Amino acid sequence: MQLTHTIALCPTPAQVDYFKRACGTARRVWNWALNEWKKQYAAGGKPNAMALKKQFNAIKYTDPQWLDKNGRPWLRDIHRDAHAQPFAHLAKAWERFFTDLKAGKKAHEPRFKKKGRCRDSFYVANDKFRLDGKTIRLPTIGDVAMTEELRFTGTILGATVSRTADRWFVAIQVEVPDAQCYRHRTAHEVNGIDLGVKAVATVSNGEVIDAPKPLNAALRRLRIRSRRLSRKLEAAKKAAGFGHHTCLPKGTRLPVSNNRQKSAATLARLHARIANIRADFVHKLTTRLCRENQALVIEDVNVKGMLANEKLARAISDVGFGMFRSQLEYKARRYRTRLVIADRWYPSSQLCSACGWKNEALTLQDREWVCAKCGTHHDRDLNAALNLKRLATGTALPVASPTSNGGAAAEMVSAAVGKVTPVRYECGQQDTSGQEENRAHVCARS
Ligand SMILES: [Zn+2]
Repeated sequence: MQLTHTIALCPTPAQVDYFKRACGTARRVWNWALNEWKKQYAAGGKPNAMALKKQFNAIKYTDPQWLDKNGRPWLRDIHRDAHAQPFAHLAKAWERFFTDLKAGKKAHEPRFKKKGRCRDSFYVANDKFRLDGKTIRLPTIGDVAMTEELRFTGTILGATVSRTADRWFVAIQVEVPDAQCYRHRTAHEVNGIDLGVKAVATVSNGEVIDAPKPLNAALRRLRIRSRRLSRKLEAAKKAAGFGHHTCLPKGTRLPVSNNRQKSAATLARLHARIANIRADFVHKLTTRLCRENQALVIEDVNVKGMLANEKLARAISDVGFGMFRSQLEYKARRYRTRLVIADRWYPSSQLCSACGWKNEALTLQDREWVCAKCGTHHDRDLNAALNLKRLATGTALPVASPTSNGGAAAEMVSAAVGKVTPVRYECGQQDTSGQEENRAHVCARS
């Protein structure tokens, strides 16, 4: 299994300078390659990354646009991995674009990268760096201190150095033996999780999980600091002769004052801090859920669709649903927890978890409701979580338990259930993981 460990670096100012230049190189090469790709494509050619790289290698030390003021090729100062990798990334980006296009999904063409608007990073191949405890030896700049040792042992595949706000990180990809990445569960429950706006998550065992508290304070600070930066920007516009809150013509470059730079850096640090709080919260939550459950059911939340709804967007991006889902997926593998993803259209909120009656009139505002058929009083989120849980235990309402409704009602619900996707299920592992019970459930469902 492939794991990535991201470690913070403690570079010297000279090393930071090199990192910045290497990121700039990677960005510029990407832009060159993308431009060339588009040009060749428009001319009826069939560009590919290898050919482009060759073409670039032929000119990179001689072409005037790759020479500095003194006519020296500045690429020589930067290790070649930084300017070789963008070609591979570009090929991947186009591949993803065409795959999405074919699949009928929303496809995004690779775009030009703009300084300050893109992620700063560059790649180092596995044979070009060496790890020694808390030091990494990178090409051309030598030893850089890391804040911790690499946690995984295995085959190192490569590394990416990147910047977040004013901190630098190295992400080391490692192919680890499967035995190393499996974790032990401490409990073997089965739970459904309803993701929501009011509470981040409601677990079918009754637990309600709220967003981390530091987030609210940080968000208030965010408003203040954004306002401060925006004032400086407006001042710069005014000084340059533009009106208040006008859009600048494309390509305008305002002079950047020291204070604006400082303000922007403070804001970037706060953004990074907020992202960290979120990531920490989601990591701890997903780890705990996978550790304590042999099967989990979540909804296939349409994050993009929900983000399109402005009112919901803020609340949702605040808790990082996309992150939640992807972390749950890889951690479920490590804990051998069965992850079931309910279809987007499965009416988990509308069904009565006790009898299966469908409350068609339920709106987003209804936090609580009473089942018209059996009279059960429901908390909206908990009821949804309970319905989701049923998908994993083979008691999903249509297949339902002998005691509850048979006949017509069950038929009606059955039509609405849609597909259930078990993300991963592996047999033949040790019994300590509760895998046997899992198998029984899968059989019951299929
Ligand atoms: Zn009911």
